[in-house]
Amino acid sequence: MCLCRRDIQIKKCRVFYIGTLSFGLDSVLGLLPLSPRSSEKNKTMTDVNVAELVRQSHEAKQKAYCPYSNFQVGAAVLTEEGTIFTGCNIENSSYSLTICAERTAVAKAVSEGYTKFKAIAVATNVSEKYMSPCGACRQFLSEFTKDSGDYDIYMSKPDLTYDKKKISELLPCAFSLN
Ligand SMILES: [Zn+2]
Repeated sequence: MCLCRRDIQIKKCRVFYIGTLSFGLDSVLGLLPLSPRSSEKNKTMTDVNVAELVRQSHEAKQKAYCPYSNFQVGAAVLTEEGTIFTGCNIENSSYSLTICAERTAVAKAVSEGYTKFKAIAVATNVSEKYMSPCGACRQFLSEFTKDSGDYDIYMSKPDLTYDKKKISELLPCAFSLN
C-alpha cells in the first residue's frame, strides 16, 4: 500500500468518526503528532488522532488469543514520535501466564526502542461501561510516565466512544524506585 493511498483512507476515517461520535475535537487535535512522516514499516502516522488510535485498538482486539475467557481486549499505544503499536490479550493454559493487551502493545513498543508515550487506547466488547486496565497493567503503564510524563488513556466501547483519564488517575501512588 503506498503512502498516498494510506492518507486517503485515514482522511475518510476521520470524517466518519468526527461526524458520528461525541468526543471533543480538542482532544483529537491534541494528539496530532510532532514528528515528520517516516516509513510504512514502522506504522508512523502523520495525522494520528484519538479516533484512529481507538479504531486501531479495536482492530487489535480481533486478534485476541482468549480461548479460556473469550474476553477479547485490544490496545494501541501512540509513541511521542507518532508511531502506533498494537496488542491483544494472550491467554495460556497456565492461567497466570496470561498477558494483557496493554502490556503486549507496550512491550512491542519498548522492544523497538520506544519508551515515550503520548497515549494508549484500550478496547473491549463490553458496551455497558468503559473497561479499565487491571492493576498489573496500571503499574506497567505507570513505569513509562518517567519518560513520557503523565500520558492519556482512552478506555473505549465497541461503538468507539471512550472515557479519557490520566495514568496517574488510574494508579495514584504507583510503586517507583525513584
Ligand atoms: Zn491487565
